[in-house]
Amino acid sequence: MAINIKRPNGTEDVLPKDVHRWQTVEKIARETADSFGFSEIRIPTFENTELFMRSVGETTDVVQKEMYTVMAKETKFTLRPEGTAGTIRAMLQNGLLNEALPQRVYYILSCFRHERPQAGRLREFHQFGLEMAGSPSPSADAEVISLAKNILDRLGLKNIKLYINSIGCPTCRAKYHEALRNYFENRKDELCETCHERLEKNPMRILDCKSPVCQEIAKNAPVILDFLCDECGEHFEKLKKYLGNLGIEYNVNPKIVRGLDYYTKTVFEFVTDEIGAQGTVCGGGRYDGLIEQLGGQKVPALGFAMGIERLLIVMDKQKCEFLTPRKCDIYFATMGDESLEKAMSISHELREYGYRAEFDLMGRGIKAQMKYANKIGASFTVVLGDNELSQGTAKVKDMETGGEVEISLDDKFRVNFESLYFNKMMDSLEDGEMLNNLNGDVK
Ligand code: ATP
Ligand code: MG
Repeated sequence: MAINIKRPNGTEDVLPKDVHRWQTVEKIARETADSFGFSEIRIPTFENTELFMRSVGETTDVVQKEMYTVMAKETKFTLRPEGTAGTIRAMLQNGLLNEALPQRVYYILSCFRHERPQAGRLREFHQFGLEMAGSPSPSADAEVISLAKNILDRLGLKNIKLYINSIGCPTCRAKYHEALRNYFENRKDELCETCHERLEKNPMRILDCKSPVCQEIAKNAPVILDFLCDECGEHFEKLKKYLGNLGIEYNVNPKIVRGLDYYTKTVFEFVTDEIGAQGTVCGGGRYDGLIEQLGGQKVPALGFAMGIERLLIVMDKQKCEFLTPRKCDIYFATMGDESLEKAMSISHELREYGYRAEFDLMGRGIKAQMKYANKIGASFTVVLGDNELSQGTAKVKDMETGGEVEISLDDKFRVNFESLYFNKMMDSLEDGEMLNNLNGDVK
């Protein structure tokens, strides 16, 4: 019986023809983060469940409804629903916070949340994210926001709005919670069931509720900005000033509370209204209490995460350009064993120098091989027939122009091919073509 197993709902395959889109986002995000002094960190795909309970927060949707948890030999593990908790855990476990501060790390990873799959909302999705630990200063907030903005700009995205808010510290929040409770208590009967519980445990979560009725009620709720203590208020004012200096446009939106519990002071989102309800492409903020909460010293920190799938949806919609995928530089059409061995040895050397070289592995005839070379878009082809082998030279054909150059099949082949290749590059540069490929260099 044929096996007919499909990928699970809410997961995606990225095929070779599309992978350059992902690589474009990853390359630009990496390079931008690097230019701001961030280095990459890699963390496990699963962690002890308790890590997420304690950091993301027990009253959040993520912990209450969305985590994939397995019981494995009496230990509870959870597939990471986000990257911050694991990253901070890794910083603590490896003593990074005892080194030079601020510590700056970024990551590209998959996250897992049991949600209802739809466009831009998956069960396995990918984030580019980063965390900076050690600085209490609003200049760090401005730095992180400007980094995110830089990535969006370099990807060519337009019309992405930045919303910022401050959700204060535990001191100002205590007063705010009281005001919220008083407000919602009066309309308790109209709230959804989950919000009843939120009202008790964490009334700010009601502001994040997706139910239209709760959203309508929340419209007139007191806003946190009216409850900020002096320190939090000043922090927010400074941040706005820095963003202004940097020429970064922002909108203050007091309704942004973010879906995770660990935030303090600054929270922000980059949102587009061009892709429907799933328009938040980046979310982040400050979490000054989290490190201590996870057993570390009192070290302030902040970060953000971007949803790569959502970025790609907006990039497609806005027809942003992707870096061109790598194509075959040179294809050797072979006839017989001696010819194949020659192709192997020359290809080996060319590959050492970074060229993408291919030859026949299917035992096809010359005509079929040339058809294949065309299909894969080879820049140059060489036929290694009996004549070529006996003369020790072969014609290297530029598949675009049809022009041919004879090159000897000895140890000078690579150098001669390289100059041919370089000239072609220069010609296409003169024709105004960009060298926007994924290699980042001439090839
Ligand atoms: P949303 O309100 O859309 O559910 P969130 O507040 O749960 O987002 P975060 O936890 O802040 O999202 O994650 C950061 C980013 O990761 C989001 O801004 C979004 O771009 C992306 N993201 C979150 N959940 C998903 C998902 N299920 N599928 C695809 N991308 C997601
Ligand atoms: Mg969510």
